[in-house]
Amino acid sequence: MKQVAEGFTILKRYGRLKTACWILENNGEAAIVEMPPYSRGEKAPWEKAKTYFKKNWVFPKYGLLTHPHWDHCYTMPHFRAAFPQTRFVAHDSFLHDSYFRYMMRNMRNTRGESLEAAGYRFFDDVFTGDIWAGDLGGEPLYIIYAPKHSYGDMLIIFKGAMITGDWYLGDLKDCNDLVNPHHKVLNIDKTMRIVNHLNYHIHMLFSGHGDALFYDADFYSIMEQSKVDHNGHQPALKARYQTA
Ligand SMILES: [Zn+2]
Repeated sequence: MKQVAEGFTILKRYGRLKTACWILENNGEAAIVEMPPYSRGEKAPWEKAKTYFKKNWVFPKYGLLTHPHWDHCYTMPHFRAAFPQTRFVAHDSFLHDSYFRYMMRNMRNTRGESLEAAGYRFFDDVFTGDIWAGDLGGEPLYIIYAPKHSYGDMLIIFKGAMITGDWYLGDLKDCNDLVNPHHKVLNIDKTMRIVNHLNYHIHMLFSGHGDALFYDADFYSIMEQSKVDHNGHQPALKARYQTA
């Protein structure tokens, strides 16, 4: 367990791909971000979360995911069962994403239920616009829908930080070619526009895997650099600090 910034705790980086399970918190309220698969020998992430909430007297208000890939949401049904009072939030694109639909085929337990219906059963709040807003103990919590790594990408903004999921920062390319490069650029622009419109100062950028943590980040210049295709060369940016 590691607190990487005030209000940001990584419970652990789970499984073979080491995806972080995050707890965001303020004033006794928390959000779970990412519900990864775990390896043999690791304690189940929802169990660890449960212990954490109990110990720290925190209420798990929201369940969030950065994008619909299995290494980020594989244990969601378990979290769902473990935290019945938690509101699970996702963009509508989640329900149409091929990876997520594939996952849900194993998840759903009602015979004959459509994938759409199953999706709505998994989420309490499905939003369709570019932005979702909530709060943790009075502190704003925003989600921007902006596909770059996948067509279900959600950027999570809280306490001056953005959790960027699997967005590759500093390069247009991501670890796959799921999103049209033109759409990537449009979504980077859209993200900057929304952050600017919210008049929100982002100075930290954290990857969903918890391996790249940017502090004292110049948000707009990193976004601009992320629009450049470096053709497979080393991206210019390096995290100032990385977790072990
Ligand atoms: Zn991932």
